[in-house]
Parts: sequence; C-alpha cells; structure tokens
Amino acid sequence: MSTPMTEPDPTPGDADATAQAAVVLVAAGRGLRAGGGLPKQYRTLRGKPVLAHTVAAFDRHPGVGEIVIVRGAEDGDLYSACGIVARCPLRDVTGGAERHASVRAGLAAVSDDFPYVLIHDAARPLVSAEVIDGVLDALRTHPGAAPALAVTDALWRGEGTVTGTENREGLWRAQTPQGFHLDAIRAAHAAHEGPAADDVEVARKAGLSVAITPGDDANIKITTGSDFARAERLMETGMDIRTGNGYDVHRFGPGDHVMLCGVALPHERGLQGHSDADVGLHTVTDAIYGALAEGDIGTHFPPSDPQWKGAESHIFLTHAVDLAAQKGFRITHADLTLVCERPKIGPHAAAMRESLAGLLRIGMDRVSVKATTSERLGFTGREEGIAALATVTLVRP
Ligand code: MG
Repeated sequence: MSTPMTEPDPTPGDADATAQAAVVLVAAGRGLRAGGGLPKQYRTLRGKPVLAHTVAAFDRHPGVGEIVIVRGAEDGDLYSACGIVARCPLRDVTGGAERHASVRAGLAAVSDDFPYVLIHDAARPLVSAEVIDGVLDALRTHPGAAPALAVTDALWRGEGTVTGTENREGLWRAQTPQGFHLDAIRAAHAAHEGPAADDVEVARKAGLSVAITPGDDANIKITTGSDFARAERLMETGMDIRTGNGYDVHRFGPGDHVMLCGVALPHERGLQGHSDADVGLHTVTDAIYGALAEGDIGTHFPPSDPQWKGAESHIFLTHAVDLAAQKGFRITHADLTLVCERPKIGPHAAAMRESLAGLLRIGMDRVSVKATTSERLGFTGREEGIAALATVTLVRP
C-alpha cells in the first residue's frame, strides 16, 4: 500500500464552493432480478426512474461538476425515455459486458477538468450529500476513498446448519460512491487484468491507499423487488408539514340567529352573505385551501354562481377536507378565533368544536375555538360584523 498523497488542486478549504469531481454512474447492468421486466435502473421509484433519482442526488451536490452515465448498448431507448436533465454537463456512453469494462468506458469519457472522480452504482439512488462529502473530504489526503458500514451482525459459516462463526472485527460492508484521484484510477484500471469486486480492489492492486469514510444505512443498492418497497419507505421520511391561515368577515343584518361552525346561536341579528354566512367555517376552509396552495373559497365556489346562494357552509369545508385527503394530507389541527362583542361565544364553544371536529374528521382535542372582543374598537367593536382567523396544520407522511 502506498502512503497517502498530498492534495491536488483545487485549493484546500474551497471544497464547498468549487466542483471538484466528475461522476461515473455505472448503469450498464441488466439487473433483472428486481423484476418488472426492465433493468432495475430504469424501473420507477416514486414516479421517477431509479437512474433519474441517482443523477439528481449528484447533480444537486456542489462538489460535482460533470456526470457520465455508462449505459447498456441496447438501452438507448430506455435511457432516452428517462428524459434526464441536469445542472451539470451530462453525457451517456455505452458500457461493456463486465462492470470493470463499463467503468473504463466511463473513465475514458470524463473530462480532465476535475481532479477527482466518483464511481457510483446507478442502483443506489438514496446516496446522501453527507456520504458524498465524506468521500470528497477524504480525497484531499488519500488517492482513494469509499464509504462503508462496519459489520455489526454476527457472521456464520454454514449450509442449512451453522458450522462456524467468523470474527466480524475489522469487516466492512462496502458502498459507493468510490472516489479516486482521476489520473490514479485511470492508470490503475489500465494496468488491471481480470475481474474485480469493485474499483477499490482495482485501486488497491495498483498500490493506492483507500480511506474508509462513513457509509449510510439508507444508501442501499436496489437488487430485488423488495428493495424497491424499502427504498420508497426510506424516501418517505421527508414528511410534508404545512400550515395554512384564513381570515374572513361577515356583516350583521336582519335575522334572529348567527351560524358559527355549523351551530345556530340565537341573536337579535343575523350575518349577511351569499351562503349561510358561517364566518367560522369559511375561515377554516380558507386556511385548508391556503395550506394546499389551492386558492380560496371563491376559487372553488364562485359567489357569481347562483347554486351556492344560501348554501350551508359545511359543503365548502367538506370540499376542502376531501381535497386535502386526495392530495395525501391529514389535517392534524385547527385553531379558530372569532372576534366579536356579541353574541357570547363561550357558552357555545364546545358545541362548535364538536361540529368542527366532525367536519374535519379529527378528534376534538385537535380543534380549538376561542373568541375575543376588540375592546369595542373598530367594526367588530361597533357590532357591525364578526371577524374570524384560523390556522390549520396539514401533514403528508
Ligand atoms: Mg365568507
């Protein structure tokens, strides 16, 4: 083994600002074990080909300046159908029958613009920025670096029954990207004969020192059908949490009750509006549309449309709740504040919470209805109308 090499250009400390590495994505394998009748790198994961996810993972890393995809000679149409676009210069070349031949084709195709090259399995779409950082950092002081995880399970030898236990100490599970100084790995591949498990083996046979950098349990190589399900679960950990707010006002007019959150409160006046003027339900409805970035009540139920004249406002809220569900969101919380001097809200707040919770299809412990006066100031203080504000929280797991 050689001693670690000193760092080539670019200058130290500039790592985050400057692209330092080209990437070779090895995507020429047939990979039919995963099922689906297609090589696994072209199968879809959450609506996008595996290969497109992998390209995106590198393309968004600031240390990456170029991506070369080594594809199967017969996969031209499959590759084109992926419609991959990238920020980096992106090229595809055809690979060979064996992995090392494909890597050689990739190494020949990368430009000489960057000192490092990262060689990565196209079927590892969940590679993180941290894993890439670890490899790039180690390349400052080593000619090679690759991520791995220490073996923590006991290791057995056996066939049907256990015949022995292996010492796991010092054993690692290798991952990619495997990174190298470009000139060094080109030379190592040119000199290499016969098969190799991976590029680290090729590098080591050429006398290059390869640093072990932190791997990641999520950086799985998709091999079997069940790996797709696992990859999808791992991608879902990016929970989408949204907050929406709503505000509405209705003026008083003739009447003998006001509708608030679907509850009729006796009062010497009513609220005016195109529908039943339930300012509470309108506000919560708008908050949900807001969280979904889907406009407001007027977008979905135009006041110009006579069919909504006198409509009961639970229709609007139910529409918003259904729309949230269609988009995969769960409403986890709603908080409504009513601003008025009268009628007194307190005695009816529990009934309103219950009504709202029913319409939102969540527990009452997730629904708040509170009220405040405006100290007799402004239009609410003069009892010209009721204002309402709401905040809702939506979660898509
Ligand atoms: Mg309204």
